[in-house]
Parts: sequence; C-alpha cells; structure tokens
Amino acid sequence: MSQLLLGCIADDFTGGTDLASMLVRGGMRTLQVIGVPQGPIPSDVDAVVIALKTRTLPTEEAVRESVAALEWLRQAGCKQFFFKYCSTFDSTAEGNIGPVADAMMDALGIDFALACPAFPENKRTLYQGHLFVGDVLLSDSGMRHHPLTPMTDANLVRVLGQQTKREVGLVPYSVVAQGAAAIREAFDAARQAGKGYAIVDAIDNANLNVIGEAAADHTLITGGSGVAIGLPENFQRAGLLPASQAAAELPKVGGLSVVLSGSCSVATNDQIEHWQKTRPSFQLDPLLLADGRDQVSEALAWAKERIGKEPVLIYGSARPEAVKAAQERLGVEAAGQLVEEALSIIAVGLDQMGVRQFVVAGGETSGAVVKALGVEALLIGAPIDPGVPWTVGVRDVPVALALKSGNFGSLDFFEKALGQIQ
Ligand code: ADP
Repeated sequence: MSQLLLGCIADDFTGGTDLASMLVRGGMRTLQVIGVPQGPIPSDVDAVVIALKTRTLPTEEAVRESVAALEWLRQAGCKQFFFKYCSTFDSTAEGNIGPVADAMMDALGIDFALACPAFPENKRTLYQGHLFVGDVLLSDSGMRHHPLTPMTDANLVRVLGQQTKREVGLVPYSVVAQGAAAIREAFDAARQAGKGYAIVDAIDNANLNVIGEAAADHTLITGGSGVAIGLPENFQRAGLLPASQAAAELPKVGGLSVVLSGSCSVATNDQIEHWQKTRPSFQLDPLLLADGRDQVSEALAWAKERIGKEPVLIYGSARPEAVKAAQERLGVEAAGQLVEEALSIIAVGLDQMGVRQFVVAGGETSGAVVKALGVEALLIGAPIDPGVPWTVGVRDVPVALALKSGNFGSLDFFEKALGQIQ
C-alpha cells in the first residue's frame, strides 16, 4: 500500500490535468478526480489532483469548495498540498486566487506560501514579478480579451496584492539564479518581514527545479504546473518515492474520435483554422442558440453523416469581435453557458454514437463536457504537448480524453492528439 504524498487542488479541469501531467512526468502515479471524491480512490497512486471549477465562481463558493477539498486531502494523509491556478494567473479583480490561497493557509495554520505561475515550456515566464506570455507582457497578450477573466495587469505582486488580505513580496530572478539555498533564505526573510506570499521569478525549468527544492518543507505551494516540476524529486530524495517508475501507462480505448472546442483563446482559434484547411467542422453560435435554434440536433445530425469516416470538429469558439458581440447581447455568463451546455449535450449524443476519443479545447468547456460524460476520475498518461496529456476517464465504458487549456498546444494540436491515440 503506497502512501499519498501530494494533495493538489486545481481551480479548473484542464489546469488539473496539466499539473497531473507534470507529476506523472516526474514519476508520480497521479489520479485526477473531478470534485471531492465521494467514494474510495485507487490505493496505488502517489498524488491526487482534485479538479474544481472554482476559477470563475463567486468567491465565497470557491473558498468553500476549496477548503472542503483540502480537508479531504488532509484526511487522506497527504504530506504536502498544492494550489494550482493558471499559468496566466487567470482571475478577476476579486479573486479567486488570493481568497482561496488565504483560506487554505488559514485552514492549514500557516502564514507563508510561494506563488509562481511560471511555465517556461509554454512560454510563460516571470521576471521582476511581471508575467510574460511569449515575448509580451500578460497585459499585452491575448489574455486581455479573455471572455471570463481578462488580464490587464502583468505585475503579479500588485494583482495578487489586490486579492489577498496578506502582504505580497517578491523573490526576484537575481536570487533564484543563485539556487535553492538563496531562495530558502529569501523565503525566510520575506516571512520575517511580514509577507504572506512571495511571487517567485522563473524563466526556465532549471529555475523551477531549484524553487521546488527550496520549497521541499513548505506545507502549501501555490502556482502553475511548472513549479511542480521539482516536487517529485523532493519525495525521491526523502526516500518516499521510487527513483523511477512507469507512471504514464494507460489502458487502451477504441471507438470513434471527435474534437470539441469552446475556447476562444488565440491558440485555439488558430488550431481551429488549421484543422479547417483539411477537415470538416461545425460552428455553434451563441446568438443562434439564444434565439432558440436547435443547433445541437443540427450538429449531431451533421456529425452522424461523417463521424464513421473521419474525425470532426464541433466548436463554439470565436474571435474576440464575435465573442464581444455575443456577450454584449446576452451577457458574459449567459453566452458562455449557452455554448458550454450545447457542447455538453452534443458530447453525450456523440458518446451514444460510439465516440470514445474526445479532444476538448477550453478549461471551462472541458469541465462541462467531462461532467456530462459521467466521468469522475482520470488516469493521466503521456503528454501530447506540454501540459496536455491523453487521459482515460474512469467509468463503465472508459473514454479517452485530451483536455486542452485554451492557449496550450501547437498549431496542429488536434491532429497530433488524434494521431497519437489511433
Ligand atoms: P479557455 O481555456 O480558452 O479559457 P474556457 O472553455 O475556459 O476556454 O472558456 C471559454 C468560455 O467562452 C466558455 O465559457 C465558453 O462557453 C465561452 N464561449 C465559447 N464560445 C463563445 C462565443 N462564441 N461567444 C461567447 N462566449 C463563448
């Protein structure tokens, strides 16, 4: 019987998968559960990631759900805890990153935690507390147009500071570059200076490894999946985890394939255009859905014609101008909800047609689709692109799922994902 080492809480589904993928890569057998587990979980895992959908919930609800998940992980005997948020620090002015982290710290009885969303493999780097997406500041990136969590300030000391009752400090790159001992000292100094959090700069994986090493004895770590890169090694060093194990093996799943997308992120829109050059697609429009047009039945009938011959794409995604138009008429939430609901019902219809391989783009969208498919836990396999593994959803008839967070994946991600599973 192995021992649960790391207990993680992710604020959305694809974020959970991204983190789980990082842990699997480091040799930790990882189970992702959707919401707080209601029954027993497999005993042969080293880490559990509880994926919530708290990123855009009202803050009070997000806090309540996160604390309940933390309590479950504590009861399960986890040694260390991780609060995973997006590598682009997706949040609104109120939170929920600060309030949730605050509540977790209160529940754990601690007064300091690091905060590091950097994920250099996906071009998210942090310098002087400023988050870059590729070669531009977060606030100049496509994230400024995000439908639910537009990010218009790249200074994370300031952004987190506005969301928390605690003071926020910075461990700058000049310290991180000196290695784990220097970072540990900077954490102690920040704590003594009354800081509750330190944003930690990182521009490459070597930085993340030493940050992880410096946080080996932290009860709670907060950040993107990148900063988890050094954690498996901490457990190996402590003799709690074997030095190497095949953590990424998945059971085989047959069936037909489909791509569903509700993400309006720049990368996803580009991936959709790339797909459309050679393959069929069907577009859902929130304005038509709101007018009562039965696009769900239309999409299913359209898919039925083609699905046995080749994979199809069904999407609600749109470029910023169209998203804005829909939001102005329907409201941000209602527009999002219409597309999420339509894609969920379509997913169930496709499941009934024998589709067992779903590539899904969008964090919120993935959450909705996975729930509709009746999947409560995911076994995590090897990555397709950084942060996006194939997974197998545990249910009576298992289903393969590649759940892509909006801005992740190469231009040909959809084709690549399907190529790897067929
Ligand atoms: P990402 O991972 O890119 O952030 P999400 O699925 O988390 O993607 O969020 C995108 C949100 O935008 C979802 O709520 C989705 O339903 C919504 N949405 C999708 N298409 C449209 C559209 N055409 N107009 C407005 N909102 C949309």
